[in-house]
Amino acid sequence: MSVSGSWVRAARGAMLLSDDGELRPTIFAEMSALAARTGAINLGQGYPDEDGPRAVLEAAKRAIDEGLNQYPPGRGMPVLLEAIANHQQRFYGLRVDPEREVLVTTGATEAIAATLLALVDAGDEVVTFEPFYDSYAAMIALAGGVHVTVALPAPAFRPDLDRLRAAVTDRTRVILINSPHNPTGTVLDREALELIVELAHRHDAIIVTDEVYEHLVFGVEHIPISTLPGARERTVTISSGGKTFSTTGWKIGWLIAPPELLDAILAVKQFLSYVSGAPFQPAIATGLGLPDSYFADAAAALAVKRELLGSGLRRAGFEVSRPDGSYFIIADAAPLGFIDAVEFCRRLPQLAGVAGIPLTAFVRPERHADYRSLVRFAFCKRAEVLDRASAQLAQLRRT
Ligand SMILES: *Cc1c(COP(=O)(O)O)cnc(C)c1O
Repeated sequence: MSVSGSWVRAARGAMLLSDDGELRPTIFAEMSALAARTGAINLGQGYPDEDGPRAVLEAAKRAIDEGLNQYPPGRGMPVLLEAIANHQQRFYGLRVDPEREVLVTTGATEAIAATLLALVDAGDEVVTFEPFYDSYAAMIALAGGVHVTVALPAPAFRPDLDRLRAAVTDRTRVILINSPHNPTGTVLDREALELIVELAHRHDAIIVTDEVYEHLVFGVEHIPISTLPGARERTVTISSGGKTFSTTGWKIGWLIAPPELLDAILAVKQFLSYVSGAPFQPAIATGLGLPDSYFADAAAALAVKRELLGSGLRRAGFEVSRPDGSYFIIADAAPLGFIDAVEFCRRLPQLAGVAGIPLTAFVRPERHADYRSLVRFAFCKRAEVLDRASAQLAQLRRT
């Protein structure tokens, strides 16, 4: 049976439809399955391999024991709405109304989905950087939007501001940014952010900003775009507890937006998941209330891991990026004689017992040539795992 429907748009948007109309598995699924089959160390998918703060885990268990097991309020539980508002005030000096400007979602993923479905009409353009997080392309397509991209060129992955200027027009409905950026680790600086605000004003566009790695920056400042003059009234800020508290399986995310925008997004969200994980909401609230030292230590520990894997990759003969944030580092396999990272990643578990993701998974076919030999590796793993991966990767020098 051939099943038609809007999924075709999503699959095509996410570059997962083969020429004969078959849905291909994502490269993430393929590489994770390959890692599992071969026993390779999986540095493909970006999730930590140890638990986050004890207090957060205990709070979820307590919530279950205390009977918080039924539908919570549609906008989110007051304790979490308050905690999100307090977090914005504490870290960024932003005053947020927890009752009207915050919405709890089922992960940042649902926040992105609901926002794009709510705000993008058929034919509207959505501008993102490229490479881009895979759900953006799928959701823009599902909303009937047109995806316009601005390249982050290797090896520095910084945006060319003239190209950004050229990409935003009166057809642009949304400028969707992600800083710190997955997959490149780029953290947008004030100049780029100011230009985005200026362009959004000039072309009456909405800014949507995915800041799930907001606390995972290494010696640079994360500047939420909504702190810039003129940004707030047209910005939807998206984040999540998954990356900050190493609870990626809990799927508690949120968005912060002016009430008119938020109500439009809520109108969609209530028919997607309706509400999100009751016992995890007070637990993430506990996390957001942890002392500053927790957030600083989490970033510092991750910075050490970036160095561990970075130096391991360098010793193995890769050319390696130095990400300013996120879970990810980009390695160029070309110096080792591998020019096609897709083929390389399919062989890497056999060659070195390690799995990664070719960067082209985040890039549209017309730009593949610019990223062909690049691989994304996740360094959000235990030090001993990164040491073992580094030792195994060193074998590549001899192949
Ligand atoms: C992990 C990730 C998400 C998804 O967050 P969830 O809270 O797990 O849904 C969204 N955006 C980016 C850039 C990510 O890396």
